[in-house]
Amino acid sequence: MADNLFFTEEHDLLRQSIREYVQKELDPHAEEWETEGLVPRSVFERMGELGFLGLHFPEEYGGGGGDYFTNIVLLEELARCQTYGVNTGVAVQVGMATPPILAFGTEEQRQKYLVPAIKGEKIACLGITEPGAGSDVSQVSTFAEKVDGGWKVNGNKIFITNGYRADFMTLLARTEKRSGYKGMSIFLVDTDTPGYVVSRKLDKVGQWASDTAEIFFEDMLIGEDALLGEEGRGFYNIMWELQAERLCVAAACVATARDVLDTAIAYAKERVQFGKPVIKNQAVAHRLADLYTQLEAVQALTYQTAWRYDRGEYPVKEISMAKLMATRVAFDAADEAMQLMGGYGYMMEYPVQRAWRDIRIARVGGGTDEIMREIIVNTLGL
Ligand SMILES: Cc1cc2nc3c(=O)[nH]c(=O)nc-3n(C[C@H](O)[C@H](O)[C@H](O)COP(=O)(O)OP(=O)(O)OC[C@H]3O[C@@H](n4cnc5c(N)ncnc54)[C@H](O)[C@@H]3O)c2cc1C
Repeated sequence: MADNLFFTEEHDLLRQSIREYVQKELDPHAEEWETEGLVPRSVFERMGELGFLGLHFPEEYGGGGGDYFTNIVLLEELARCQTYGVNTGVAVQVGMATPPILAFGTEEQRQKYLVPAIKGEKIACLGITEPGAGSDVSQVSTFAEKVDGGWKVNGNKIFITNGYRADFMTLLARTEKRSGYKGMSIFLVDTDTPGYVVSRKLDKVGQWASDTAEIFFEDMLIGEDALLGEEGRGFYNIMWELQAERLCVAAACVATARDVLDTAIAYAKERVQFGKPVIKNQAVAHRLADLYTQLEAVQALTYQTAWRYDRGEYPVKEISMAKLMATRVAFDAADEAMQLMGGYGYMMEYPVQRAWRDIRIARVGGGTDEIMREIIVNTLGL
């Protein structure tokens, strides 16, 4: 029986099957992929085969036809994997790089990119951020110049998840020589196009199994059919799509926070100092009470907002609030878990250090804490 207002028994069955998949087929390889700095392509293929990469996409494109909560179930369960890199790579694939293809793509583009991405045969990445354009997307300067038969692209993207070995990029580039949010467009670009250069794989503090790359475009020629959606509407279309991403980040962070706290509490019940389990100190227990309270509050906000989003509303304020709070709670929970485990928590042999390193980026990626606050301020009309 579903234990939450927002989930049906079908969601529960899905959750169970993803949980088993994570435990049986992903967790045993976590160390190996962390060391290699990459989740193998076969993971995408297997997840495609199991139907996990298309849960909320229409059945006519090979998807499961599920609601937005199926995606939440997926990312919550992947967030419990021993390497968070799987979650990040898959989140980009299912929640960031491909939804614009369904929303704005032609039938040909959907068949060429969306269908194989759902099958796990193609890996997708999303190219927005540039060295000079992070939080301020209006500064994107990668330029797509109209030429005979298509576009010639020059520029550079950084911090691109899946970027080291993706098969295609959903690319945001400027198509008009003007500043600001207007005059940008989205393109679908095959990564084997001459002029598409993966310059380096970036080393990170955490999320080692998720590959992150810097990409250059050097006189890269793409056809007219590479344009995704309306020319000049790129910024608005990509920002619309980022809202769903933020909700997924919030849901995954709640799952991570719960998981990390549960693990640390189990440890603190066993660990005896001064003749009693560490958990029996009120100073410790009260901090946990606070964290669980925040966790329940942000989970309720996240699910309620997801429910509204799934019904076609556009609750930007609440999405920003959920992302801001969930990522902070997850970070605090991982930090508290490490504290609870004392010196052992700082040792590489205990997984809590990985959660502590991996979750930090959630407060930056997909819009930083400060940008979430800016959006909240603006939507409140302050
Ligand atoms: C591991 C990782 C994976 C990523 N994956 C992708 C990806 O797949 N595709 C992609 O396109 N991008 C990706 N990103 C980029 C990510 O979205 C950006 O890092 C993020 O948007 C912040 O941009 P920035 O790093 O340039 O920081 P900046 O924008 O330079 O911000 C620096 C600091 O200034 C603060 N700041 C900026 N403006 C304001 C303001 N107006 N008020 C108050 N404070 C402000 C910020 O909050 C931040 O604390 C990834 C990043 C990382 C680290």
